Amino acid sequence: MQTIDKYHFAGKKAFVRVDFNVPLDEQLNITDDNRIRAALPTLKKILADGGSLIIGSHMGRPKKNPNPKYSLKSIVNHISELLDVQVQFATDCQKADAQVAALKPGEALLLENLRFYAEEEGKPRGLADDATDEEKAAAKKAVKESQKVFTAKLASYADCYVNDAFGTAHRAHASTALIAKNFSEENKMFGYLMNKEVTAVEKLMTNTARPFTAIMGGSKVSSKIDIIENLLSKVDNLIIAGGMTYTFVKALGGKIGTSICEDDKRDLALDLMKKAKANNVKIVMAVDAKIADKFSNDAKTSFVNVNEIPDDMMGMDIGPKTEAIFAEVIKNSKTILWNGPTGVFEFENFSHGSRAVGEAIVEATKNGAFSLVGGGDSVACVNKFGLTDGVSYVSTGGGALLEVIEGRVLPGIEAIRGY
Ligand code: AMP
Repeated sequence: MQTIDKYHFAGKKAFVRVDFNVPLDEQLNITDDNRIRAALPTLKKILADGGSLIIGSHMGRPKKNPNPKYSLKSIVNHISELLDVQVQFATDCQKADAQVAALKPGEALLLENLRFYAEEEGKPRGLADDATDEEKAAAKKAVKESQKVFTAKLASYADCYVNDAFGTAHRAHASTALIAKNFSEENKMFGYLMNKEVTAVEKLMTNTARPFTAIMGGSKVSSKIDIIENLLSKVDNLIIAGGMTYTFVKALGGKIGTSICEDDKRDLALDLMKKAKANNVKIVMAVDAKIADKFSNDAKTSFVNVNEIPDDMMGMDIGPKTEAIFAEVIKNSKTILWNGPTGVFEFENFSHGSRAVGEAIVEATKNGAFSLVGGGDSVACVNKFGLTDGVSYVSTGGGALLEVIEGRVLPGIEAIRGY
């Protein structure tokens, strides 16, 4: 497989797919530029080697046609500052031939939001609500056909293709996967960020030092079923935390008061516990909870056994006994995955458990464990608690990371290296 370090970019034009889907405020100012910064090593390397950049990205989910709210024009100046190069802008990603042709070594061109074209995602747009199945099928076929032309156009701009957008690697879109077919093996590669992400998650899933502990928190079992099922054939310990705890506790006959619970998932919870036992996976669950009389930071609180929650109270975080149990398991682990908080960490009064888990992970990491935090709110937790530097890897790819953990092959990865 080609790599960014071996490739000679001098005099070449590189189409680099990045994930610049950054949050903007009402005045279209960037409120968090982490995603842009994450791609800088790749972009700077290509420029420094004397290559030129054609940068492609999406922003938001424009449903119909171009919408200024999602225009990448808002971020050109900031990218120019970060790259120390005046980045040019192509207002139409399909009509950039002249600008591309004029690009000199060391220059960069940012294409307008690729999702301004339905062809990027390959899904029909503007279908009437009452469209018949035939009309839907015809529209789908038409957009798939025009997607080939769209993709070929993007590919025609460049000598090589670099994918540095791990955050969209689980999408088989034109610029994230399909485009790679237009380049030979030697002329397509991962960028540095993509490479780091793939290496980290593969270390977790395939090259695992034991014991391997996964901490699954968050609000719902239903959104984590596929992940838990796949993890049951990989981990030694599965810590169940957060709101999903109460579905398990109720399924086991406990009293959970008004805690969040998915009643239709109780059988599934029992089933997962059986599967865990069959696979020799130790399920570690809360024994006590911090309960509240309302969903608020100012609620009245107390600590009770997790299966003895009064009727008018709800579990909002783990209690001190559980913190100690979780910490013990975590500190004895050699590989750790953390996905999802142990409680409603957004409220200061219910963030203690998530902080304790984060701190135990940091300690385990100091003692040589490999720890990966990713997939949504646990990333917000490590940031909030200032623990980012103490864990081995914080993934930038929410959905993409979770799909790898579910055991899926991501189209963006497969398109480059074939598996
Ligand atoms: P997820 O996106 O599934 O990882 O869920 C994250 C969300 O779960 C956060 O917003 C937490 O506030 C929420 N959460 C965690 N524990 C609880 C709980 N015990 N009750 C209600 N929500 C919770």
